[in-house]
Amino acid sequence: MNDTLIDGHGRRIDYLRLSITDRCNLRCQYCMPTLGVPKLRHDEMLSYEEMLRVADLLVTLGISKIRITGGEPLVRKGSLYFCERIAAINGLQSVSLTTNGVLLEELAEGLSIAGIQRINISLDSLDPRRYASITRRDCFHQVWRGILKAAAIGLSPVKLNTVIMRGINDDEVEDLAGLTYQHPFHVRFIELMPMNGEAGDDLFMGSDEILARLSAMGPLTPVSSSHSNGPARHFRLAGAMGKIGIISPISHHFCPSCNRLRLTADGKLRTCLFATQETDLRPYLRQGASDAEILERLREAILTKPERHALTPGGIRKCINRPMVAIGG
Ligand code: SAM
Ligand code: SF4
Repeated sequence: MNDTLIDGHGRRIDYLRLSITDRCNLRCQYCMPTLGVPKLRHDEMLSYEEMLRVADLLVTLGISKIRITGGEPLVRKGSLYFCERIAAINGLQSVSLTTNGVLLEELAEGLSIAGIQRINISLDSLDPRRYASITRRDCFHQVWRGILKAAAIGLSPVKLNTVIMRGINDDEVEDLAGLTYQHPFHVRFIELMPMNGEAGDDLFMGSDEILARLSAMGPLTPVSSSHSNGPARHFRLAGAMGKIGIISPISHHFCPSCNRLRLTADGKLRTCLFATQETDLRPYLRQGASDAEILERLREAILTKPERHALTPGGIRKCINRPMVAIGG
C-alpha cells in the first residue's frame, strides 16, 4: 500500500522525473555545450530493470506520478517497452513523457499503446531555420509532424514547451501563443534557467514580461488545470481552444509547493533541480542491497530536500554540477 511521502519541510512528494538516458539527438543551446557533454558509459547507466526497481519502491513510498525524460528518452533502445513496464506499476496514477519530438511521428502510436497518457514536446520556434540554430539540428518539420501525429492519435493534452530567450525567439511569443486558437495544445512558456548550456544570463526574459506581451493580444483569462499541481500558471486567450502555461522557476519560484524528485540515468537521486548534492543509488542496486535498505536511503534523501533554490533573477549563478541534458529538466 502507498504511504504519504513528506519531506523535511512538510511538502508532500508524489512526483518523479525519471531520466532514462543522457543521450540526445538535438544539441539545444540552453541545455548543452556545442561539443556536447561526456557520455555515460553503458555500464554507468542504470538498466531498465534497475530503474524499475527504484520506481517501484518510490511508488510504495507515495510517488503517484512519473514523467519519463532524458536526454532524449526516445533515443534509448527499448524505450516503448520501458514505458509499458512503468505504466504497469501498481498504484501509479499517471505516466507521462517529455520529448523533443524528433522521433515522435513514428513512435506516438506505440507510446499511447504502452500507456503514456500525456506528452510534453519541446518547441522553441516555428521558424525552421531558427529552430535549427537553437537546437543545432535541422529537424523542425519532423518535429511538427510528430506533434500533429500525437494530437491525431489522442495523446491529450499535447503540451508544447518553449524556453523564451531574449533576442533569440522572444519575438515569437505571440505566434506560439496563437497556436492555441487553431489547436487544443497547451503552449507553455518557460523561463531560461542558468544551467550549463551556452545561453547566457543576458538572454533571460522574465515571465511578467512574457505575460504582458500575451495580455496585449487580447483578454487573457486565468484558468485552472485538471493537473494543476505542477509549476505552471494557466491562461486562455479569448476564443482559443488551447491553454497557455507560464512556468517561472526563477522570477516566481515554486519551491514551497515543490512535489518532485529526480532520478538521473546513472542512478543519482536529486531532490532539487538546482541541487549540488545527490544520493547515489547505483552502488546499492548493484551490491545486493535489500528493498528495505534502499527504501531507507530513499527516505533519508527525501528528508534532505532543500527548502528552496538559491537562484534569483538579478543574481543568477550557474548550476555547475550537471548540465540539464544529464538531469532531465
Ligand atoms: N529531450 C527532451 C526535451 O527536450 O523535451 C527531454 C529532456 S529536456 C532536458 C526537458 C526540458 O528541459 C525541455 O522542455 C527543455 O526545454 C528544458 N530545458 C533544458 N534546458 C533548459 C534551461 N536551461 N532552461 C529552461 N528549460 C530548459
Ligand atoms: Fe536534447 Fe531536450 Fe536538451 Fe534539447 S532540451 S538538447 S532536446 S535534452
